[in-house]
Amino acid sequence: MRARAPRRSAAVLALIAAAPLASAAAPERAATASATTPRRTKNVILLTLDGLRIQELFGGMDPLLAGKRVQKKSGIYDLDRARQRFWRDTPGERRAVLLPYFWGTLAPQGIVLGDKDRGCSVQPRNPLLFSAPGYAEILTGQPQPDVITNDTKRYPHRTVLEFVRSELRLGKRQVATIGSWDGFGTLSSSEADAFFTNTGYERVPAGMATPRMEFLGDLQFQIMALWEEGRSDAVTFNIALEYLRTERPRLLYIALGESDDWAHARRYDRLLDYINVADGYLRRLWQTLQSIDQYRGSTTLILTTDHGRGITPSTWVEHDQGIEGSEDIWIAVIGPDTPRRGEVAPCDTLHQSDVAATLLRFFGLDGHLFNPQAGPPIAAAFEEREQPPGRRR
Ligand SMILES: [Zn+2]
Repeated sequence: MRARAPRRSAAVLALIAAAPLASAAAPERAATASATTPRRTKNVILLTLDGLRIQELFGGMDPLLAGKRVQKKSGIYDLDRARQRFWRDTPGERRAVLLPYFWGTLAPQGIVLGDKDRGCSVQPRNPLLFSAPGYAEILTGQPQPDVITNDTKRYPHRTVLEFVRSELRLGKRQVATIGSWDGFGTLSSSEADAFFTNTGYERVPAGMATPRMEFLGDLQFQIMALWEEGRSDAVTFNIALEYLRTERPRLLYIALGESDDWAHARRYDRLLDYINVADGYLRRLWQTLQSIDQYRGSTTLILTTDHGRGITPSTWVEHDQGIEGSEDIWIAVIGPDTPRRGEVAPCDTLHQSDVAATLLRFFGLDGHLFNPQAGPPIAAAFEEREQPPGRRR
């Protein structure tokens, strides 16, 4: 999330104000049908990997950043090591070695959207292309014109997390955000204390913390994170996993940050190492879910990112309006109600603002009732199960 967002000029602000809102006009669209279709999903985990590019997700180690001539710009300290770990002849082999669990186990149980080269583009509607505007769009279903800095700040926009809690009458601990940056806490709800959050350098409160959470609470101050803004994702992830086991939330948002941090540090080799570590987080998360009765076979995992980043050896470290590539993002949906299609391409252009209504639909809730300006649910995440039984493969 690297809070370097420059102050926006008046001209840029005018542009933001004029930016079209989500497909507000997308009218009735099966909103009511979706609310009545029975689903197997009872729980949703939303997990974001900050600024993780489509280039790495779909193609593994990027040929534009992997060669000796660009080694310095890419920020690869030991090219032999990096290539030995992650370089293979084809994009398919490279992504499989970088993200073996994601591509080998998760993707076949759901859909992955955003491979622009193959004709499936996913984009934010907000024009700013840095963290806070992206997370606000994900969590509220539309670009929010007043979210124009990464400052940790609470906004008055109701989020899907709040909506799910109130619609399903869930307890305060049954919805949770656990994240590496404190901004994830304030962006998660329009009111303080709407549900459980543990973000930035925060301890789980005594009385609620397990011994493991207490240990992780100490550990976060012993691990030097890469930048000042956030704690180590290893701490965040393990608190989230422990929370899952002990509190059994119905909706959990896990917000990780180091994919953005290593990129801003211009360390392509370490970014690849991190993505591989994050793949291990996904493995442990999914295996944990399948080991608990409440979650097994009834939990949908939604993975996405807040923004893309540049595509050249000079620009890949950064992202923002005007840096080509920052608008290319991706979404993956894995779970019992989603067609087992793996990568979906081509597709009609999808948007970051579609995540909210998609998440709500898994709970049988209507995104339009949540926010009339919200993008529509992603049809590909549901369609197969809505066809008559005879037409299914
Ligand atoms: Zn960033």
